[in-house]
Amino acid sequence: MPVNTEAYHHLIKQLQSKNVQLVAVSKTKPNEDILALYEQGQRAFGENYVQELVDKAAILPSDIHWHFIGHLQSNKVKYIAPFVYLIHGVDSEKLLAEINKQAIKQNKIIACLLQVHIATEETKFGFDASSLAEFITSGRLSNYSHIVIKGLMGMASFTEDQTLVEKEFSTLKSIYDQTATAFNNIHFDTLSMGMSGDYALAIEKGSNLVRIGSLLFGARNLVL
Ligand SMILES: *Cc1c(COP(=O)(O)O)cnc(C)c1O
Repeated sequence: MPVNTEAYHHLIKQLQSKNVQLVAVSKTKPNEDILALYEQGQRAFGENYVQELVDKAAILPSDIHWHFIGHLQSNKVKYIAPFVYLIHGVDSEKLLAEINKQAIKQNKIIACLLQVHIATEETKFGFDASSLAEFITSGRLSNYSHIVIKGLMGMASFTEDQTLVEKEFSTLKSIYDQTATAFNNIHFDTLSMGMSGDYALAIEKGSNLVRIGSLLFGARNLVL
């Protein structure tokens, strides 16, 4: 299925009027699809798998901002540290420590979002509200000299139940606001929530970055 450039321009218009950033989620999609959207002006792309991201980044234009949005294992941080633009799914202090270590090696600052567990499903990773609050107020973040925490990321339950999704987004927005107040850091300005099926609701609830794949690139094959 070709890239839906019409949907892209429609989406961009909608998002720009609300000051919401778009990360085009290109996991499992070929380089030609990414280039098709790149030619329309898109620069922020999101990937879930380390090896796939490393392969794509080596070939595709160097001004692409690569967002890592999947579950990141500590032992794989080193492969993406040299070029990653923003890591969305930081779900433990152990992972943060490893990102910091690799950032020091690369002599760069790595921008991260802390992932918050908002879905009722067991399978979604992330901090819960109380462990996040404890971490932010503990001062331990100052141990991580080469990390900047840009905000929070979350995923709602995969369900038709709009009331539940809405509730989960509202919860994340209020955790975001509380964290922003407690943290009091000028770099903390990004709330990454919303995907193809629920982005409008996410924006209504306060998202300012949406991660959208299938709406732009078509459905993914169930591989990997
Ligand atoms: C795959 C994925 C998306 C994009 O999902 P679509 O429903 O295709 O828009 C967004 N966020 C994360 C974390 C993903 O893994």
